[in-house]
Amino acid sequence: MTFENTAPSETVLQLLMFVDQSATAAEQIQQVKSYLETLGPEYPFELRVLEVSQHPELVEYFKLVVTPALVRIYPEPLQVLAGTDLVSQLRDCWLHWQPMLLDAVQRNRSDVRSASQPSLAHFVQLMQLSDELFRLKQENEALRNQLHFKDCTIDMLAHDLRNPLTAATIALETLDNQWDPKQQPETPLKPKIQQRLTHHARTHIQMIERMITHLLETSRGKSAELQICPKRLDLASLCQDVVANIQGWFKAKSQHLQTDIPPDLPEVHADADRIRQVIMNLLENASKYTPGGGKIQLSVLHRTTQKVQISVCDNGLGIPEEQQVLIFDNQFRLSRDQSQEGYGIGLALCQQLVQAHYGRIWVDSTPNQGSCFHFTLPVYRS
Ligand code: ADP
Repeated sequence: MTFENTAPSETVLQLLMFVDQSATAAEQIQQVKSYLETLGPEYPFELRVLEVSQHPELVEYFKLVVTPALVRIYPEPLQVLAGTDLVSQLRDCWLHWQPMLLDAVQRNRSDVRSASQPSLAHFVQLMQLSDELFRLKQENEALRNQLHFKDCTIDMLAHDLRNPLTAATIALETLDNQWDPKQQPETPLKPKIQQRLTHHARTHIQMIERMITHLLETSRGKSAELQICPKRLDLASLCQDVVANIQGWFKAKSQHLQTDIPPDLPEVHADADRIRQVIMNLLENASKYTPGGGKIQLSVLHRTTQKVQISVCDNGLGIPEEQQVLIFDNQFRLSRDQSQEGYGIGLALCQQLVQAHYGRIWVDSTPNQGSCFHFTLPVYRS
């Protein structure tokens, strides 16, 4: 909504008025408009009314915290008035504003209007463009991050594939050499050894196949839809922050939480909020499934040049071996734990989140002795 008492090109006072959807907004607008009209035709004004919920970018830009608010765009500098007594504030300002407006009137008359005098519509358009630019910059940054993240994870996966590939190659070469007349070993391989080598090669090839299947599922499957936003992340600080925030859980059960986070840990490429969620979930479980007085440890290990491993260990109830894979299924809970609060979805979500980072999550556990949940993340490489 725009109110003018003359053609926009002649205005000497340009104002934006921000209102909310309250019942009094229309009355407040009318009061301001009536006051501006009392200034007389020698001070032509332009008043544009904006509803705050439709212009969050402008509210943010002018740092408005109260409605109604009035922003003087021209003459410069910008000035913001806010509160329900806008008219009386305008009256108080008039002493300072009048000389500026007279000056603007003069400039209009002598036709040396400031080239910088913006029209309100122009100003709003500029704001929208700058908002759009900001959004595009953020999108660009997110895409660059995604690309860099892919580079880091490809390095990590290439490294992971190399171990089983080397093992399978060595086994096959050893088998192959016995048929090569030039490499003929002095004593031919015994059938049992041949069988073992074949088995070894097959096991490692199956491992590679599983890794590739997992990789394809991760990039096309549900976890890809999780929309992670990986960035350069100081994992050590994140862990310390998580620990500082949840000390209360452990105190309540008289449990001892220890940390082992090396000071020279490299940065990782990960979505801070999502990884926080995973660590909190694992620590919460560790506390929940460990009796009062138990011990819980959060540790981080720089495992390879491409990978960091985070572990949450407890000396609680443990998990029977045959169920150690099942606990990562959605809504799976050990029958032993049905009386505990929970829905059996925490670990399934952790798995999805870790897989979305092309990492792996698993558990080592001995019933009645405790459990260690581990997951990996790619190291950030600049
Ligand atoms: P919830 O804890 O809500 O049941 P989760 O998906 O986090 O769901 O865990 C699934 C199940 O795995 C739990 O119900 C519990 O039986 C078992 N579990 C998880 N963490 C631990 C742990 N640290 N120690 C022993 N059992 C655990």
